[in-house]
Amino acid sequence: MAQKNFVELTRTNDKMPLVGFGCWKVDQKDAEETIYNAIKVGYRLIDGACDYGNEVEVGRGIRKAIADGIVKREEIFVTTKLWNTYHNKANVRPAFDKQLADLGLDYVDLYLIHFPIPLQHVEHDVCYPPGWVHPTKTSGILLEASPMQDCWREMEKIAEAGLARNIGISNFNVQLILDLLTYAKIKPAVLQIELHPYLQQKRLVEWVQSQGIAVTAYSSFGPASFAQLTDDGRNAKPLLDHEVIQAIAKKHDKTTAQVLLRWSVERNVAVIPKSMHVERMTTNRDLFSWSLGADDIKDITALEMGLRFNNPDSYGMALPLFA
Ligand code: NAD
Repeated sequence: MAQKNFVELTRTNDKMPLVGFGCWKVDQKDAEETIYNAIKVGYRLIDGACDYGNEVEVGRGIRKAIADGIVKREEIFVTTKLWNTYHNKANVRPAFDKQLADLGLDYVDLYLIHFPIPLQHVEHDVCYPPGWVHPTKTSGILLEASPMQDCWREMEKIAEAGLARNIGISNFNVQLILDLLTYAKIKPAVLQIELHPYLQQKRLVEWVQSQGIAVTAYSSFGPASFAQLTDDGRNAKPLLDHEVIQAIAKKHDKTTAQVLLRWSVERNVAVIPKSMHVERMTTNRDLFSWSLGADDIKDITALEMGLRFNNPDSYGMALPLFA
């Protein structure tokens, strides 16, 4: 039986596509056209964030695709994320409102807490997006005492107002999710995490899915995006060129990128690859007409290294979030 190309979210029963397009590192100057092209080649999920600094242009690309009749608003699933400097209960809604206005949309489909790291607030007119380092400092982070429970309550209010159809979390571990589930009136619909053959997080994925929380994988190609950020990114063998992945790709007459993406999709985990090239965008979403064999899965499983690339501790923020 052919695999479904979406996962149904709890509470709303919204169908979240299993393949979406990621907006990190899409330059402002390219974003409108890139997002438009992504929708044109068939992407129906756009994964953005305040932190990516391109929401105005991403919104233009989405709205152009709607205006040109390529999609209707209700056919496209738009995700964005609350940045760390807006966790305080006074700052969540204003941050969301700015993002929605920048996107030029009436609602988003999914609003995620980007990281469970409350940082000191930065006014929009001082610096936007504010990034990790507070404008009064030259390096490192400034934490803020904002309880996650307060932040989640504000996220719930945005969902209750129908402005974010679903709410969720990113880069959370099981301990924090367990706590959140004790007070959540609205359970997180999605957990977005780093996931690739070097960091498979098998039990985390299984447990989270067993709680009715869908999982999205980011950085499916492992070190590909992290070469400039971390030593691990520089030193790890690129997964896209790994001989094990190459052999599997050759066997199925697919690209190594498709193998890495299909590996997640087979676990009912959504993927959000980013590419600036229309040809790669197109092949990256061709994941449902074929499947990996048990021997392929076994070979990929053997690549596990517990190697995480998106760790604030490894790019200068002195915070061992995942320790
Ligand atoms: P990715 O794993 O999608 O890799 C992107 C890199 O792979 C780019 O350099 C691109 O040129 C290259 N690439 C893409 N398709 C290719 C192909 N077919 N052949 C060869 N090279 C190819 O990387 P990512 O950007 O780290 O993650 C994807 C998305 O996940 C982001 O855009 C963002 O939306 C999201 N993300 C979320 C978080 C979070 O904290 N929640 C963190 C990182 C990324």
